[in-house]
Amino acid sequence: MTNRRKFLRLSGLAASLLAIKCTVKNNIDSPPNQPIVLSTWKFGIQANAEAWKILANQGRALDAVEKGVMLVEADPNERSVGYGGRPDRDGIVTLDACIMDENANIGSVACLENIKHPISVARAVMEKTHHVMLVGKGALDFALSQGFVAENLLTPESEKEWKEWLKTSQYLPKVNIENHDTIGMIALDSQGNLSGACTTSGMAFKMHGRVGDSPIIGAGLFVDNEVGAATATGHGEEVIRVAGTHLVVELMRQGKSPQMACEEAVKRIHQQLIRRKVDVKEKQIGFIALNKKGEYGAYCLQEGFNFAVHDRSGNQLIDGKYLLKG
Ligand code: ASP
Repeated sequence: MTNRRKFLRLSGLAASLLAIKCTVKNNIDSPPNQPIVLSTWKFGIQANAEAWKILANQGRALDAVEKGVMLVEADPNERSVGYGGRPDRDGIVTLDACIMDENANIGSVACLENIKHPISVARAVMEKTHHVMLVGKGALDFALSQGFVAENLLTPESEKEWKEWLKTSQYLPKVNIENHDTIGMIALDSQGNLSGACTTSGMAFKMHGRVGDSPIIGAGLFVDNEVGAATATGHGEEVIRVAGTHLVVELMRQGKSPQMACEEAVKRIHQQLIRRKVDVKEKQIGFIALNKKGEYGAYCLQEGFNFAVHDRSGNQLIDGKYLLKG
C-alpha cells in the first residue's frame, strides 16, 4: 500500500472515530431542554403559560403543574374540567384529580363534589394525610376541613345540556365531540425535577360514582424522576385497562423515546380493543410524555387530539400523530 493510500485510510478511520466520539459526547453532555411543560388539548396553552411563570423563575415543577391546571379548573367555559364541567346522569358534577411529585409522593381525589379545585385537594391529600386517595363524601369532608369552600359547580349551560340529554338518556361517549376531556400536565423544572397533575369532570352523563383514569396514579398520570412522566386523556376505562401512563414511563425506562413509548402504549390499547371486539372508531385515547432530557412525544388513537408545549422557544399547540388513518 502506498503511503498516500495508507494516510487516507487512517485519516478516514480517525474521522469515523471522531464522529462516534462526538455522537456519544452529545448524547451525554448536551444540556437537557429544561424547563419545559406539556399539557393536553387546546386549553393546555393557557395552562402552560400559567405554569411557565413558575418554571421560568426556577420554581418547582410541582407548583407549576398545580397552578397551571387550576386555571382550567376555574374556567366555566371549559366544560370537561372543574367548575362548569358537565354533570353525571343525576345532574351532579363530580371531579377526579391526581398529582405526583419528583419523590413519588402522590395524592388523589375521586368523585369529589362542590369543590372548584380538586387538584389542590389532591395535593393536600398528598401533603397532609397518611393516605394517597380519598373519594366521595370523605374527600369532600377532608377538603372542607382544610378550608376549601363548597360551591355549586353546575353552571346554567351544563344544566341545560344535561336536561336536554335526559330526553334520550343515551350514554354515548363519542370521539372528539368534546363531552369529555382532561387537562393532564407534566413538567421538568430547572433543577431537573419532574412532576405532573391531571384533573377532569370525566365523561359527561356518566353513572353517579363512575371514576375514570384521571385520578388513578399509573393510569391517568405517572412520574418517575429517574426516567420521565406521562399523562393521558380519552376513554379512561381503556387507559386503566393497560395502566397506561405507567406503561409509557416503563417503555421510556427501557430506552424508548417519549414518542415511541406513547406510540407503543396506544398500539397496546388498540390491540386490546380489537381482541375485545370493541369498535375502535368510537374510542379516543391520547398520551403525552416527557423524559429527563426534556424530550417529549405524544400519540393518540385517532385524529383530533392536540397538546401544548412550552419551553424556552415559546408556547405552541401541536396536533398529535395518530394510529387510525382514514
Ligand atoms: N380520561 C377522562 C375520563 O375517562 C376523560 C377524557 O380525558 O376524555 O374520565
